[in-house]
Amino acid sequence: MKICILGAGVVGVTSAYMLAARGHEVTVLDRQPEAARECSFANGGQLSYTHAEPWANPHVFPKLMRWMWQEDAPLVLRFRADPHMIRWGLLFLMNCLPARARNHSEALLRLGLYSKAKMDALIAETGIDFEFLNKGILHVFSSQKDFDHARRQMEFQAAIGGQERALSMDEAVAMEPSLAHTDKKLYGAVLSPLDASGDIHLFTQRLAALAAEKYGVKFRHQITIRHLHSSGDTLSHIETSQGYESGFDAYVMSLGAYSPIYLRQLGLYVPIYPMKGYSITFPAGEFTPTISITDEERKVVYSRLGNRIRAAGTAEFAGYNHDIRKLRVEAVIRGAKLLFPKSDLHAPQEWACLRPSTPDGPPMVGATPLKNLYMNTGHGTLGWTQAAGSARLLADVIDRVPTEIPLTGLTTERNLIRW
Ligand SMILES: Cc1cc2nc3c(=O)[nH]c(=O)nc-3n(C[C@H](O)[C@H](O)[C@H](O)COP(=O)(O)OP(=O)(O)OC[C@H]3O[C@@H](n4cnc5c(N)ncnc54)[C@H](O)[C@@H]3O)c2cc1C
Repeated sequence: MKICILGAGVVGVTSAYMLAARGHEVTVLDRQPEAARECSFANGGQLSYTHAEPWANPHVFPKLMRWMWQEDAPLVLRFRADPHMIRWGLLFLMNCLPARARNHSEALLRLGLYSKAKMDALIAETGIDFEFLNKGILHVFSSQKDFDHARRQMEFQAAIGGQERALSMDEAVAMEPSLAHTDKKLYGAVLSPLDASGDIHLFTQRLAALAAEKYGVKFRHQITIRHLHSSGDTLSHIETSQGYESGFDAYVMSLGAYSPIYLRQLGLYVPIYPMKGYSITFPAGEFTPTISITDEERKVVYSRLGNRIRAAGTAEFAGYNHDIRKLRVEAVIRGAKLLFPKSDLHAPQEWACLRPSTPDGPPMVGATPLKNLYMNTGHGTLGWTQAAGSARLLADVIDRVPTEIPLTGLTTERNLIRW
């Protein structure tokens, strides 16, 4: 089949690689000069396969009110005069119900474990070097209540295939000595031993180069998609900054946070909303982490990427605005200063981008009401983690072969409205 993938982020590139490896003729369109220049550029680096609690959960619900008035809170959910945001926000609140959150955890863990298997296979097959650190992720807690909640979530996940383990702070410090110097009172840790970390940008760029070299994938950069046109129940052509594109057997929507804008042009409404996050990158040193860590109080993650440390977090709803707001990035810097006070934070590299977030957590993968259009988008906080698994699911759906895991809770039709 001739397949056109819209978007060369980690999701589009991994999809392109997997589809081309199966013999499809793949073209990728992207507005940036090279792959992975938007949300897949400087993220938190965590391959968080088994920590599967969605943002929308009953434990977060009471915190939302408090965070609403706190400018540097981990998640600031304020309703803007934007109907898409209002709908997204209401769906998010509904998804905080316990039964829904449990279903979404199960879907996230199912996709996470599957993604781990596919990512491990991809790493073994390609030999891509991307500062991969396969040492697990350590989650640390600043209140007994949060630690107790995490242990309950861990027990729930253990019953459905999770493999996490609670640690005392002495055990956590023995595993990660930099925590001995923290200025925070920590109550305990949860180790996710199957998880890992690595540089998303390096990985995506190198996978794109390999896809082009090995399987002839055509990457066409600096083409901005302007309008998608349909005719009956097919996508007929794409209007771009360089003219029109058509004649493909299938199209894959992987435009990240921008996906819903273009889907709406086809009469498909999906509740994916841009959730802005920030990161800083600073030099690794004697007192910085050697494995990936999550500060669960601030929802800031730390990954060691060779001789650099990446810290990332915060969730802000600012529409399609990429500005690096001082107040928000300083929240990440302050978090790093508290947890790792001996770090060299005098001139960190700052970055912000928009996560393509669904209100329930899992991405939207598979067929759409238009018969030649597929989606692989809406990965929110976990696109790096889930890229390999969701690319393989997409390839199976396009090839009309049974998927290796159920698609329940991951499909495109949930919350999709067609008009
Ligand atoms: C601060 C932060 C920290 C994060 N930390 C983690 C983490 O630790 N672990 C994890 O798993 N995930 C993390 N994420 C989430 C992860 O980075 C994203 O889910 C993932 O990068 C999304 O990939 P994507 O390919 O869907 O989108 P993108 O990477 O944004 O790719 C979309 C592509 O579409 C292109 N595009 C958009 N519009 C157009 C247009 N009109 N015409 C042409 N091209 C267009 C863009 O140029 C871009 O290349 C984090 C995100 C942020 C912001």
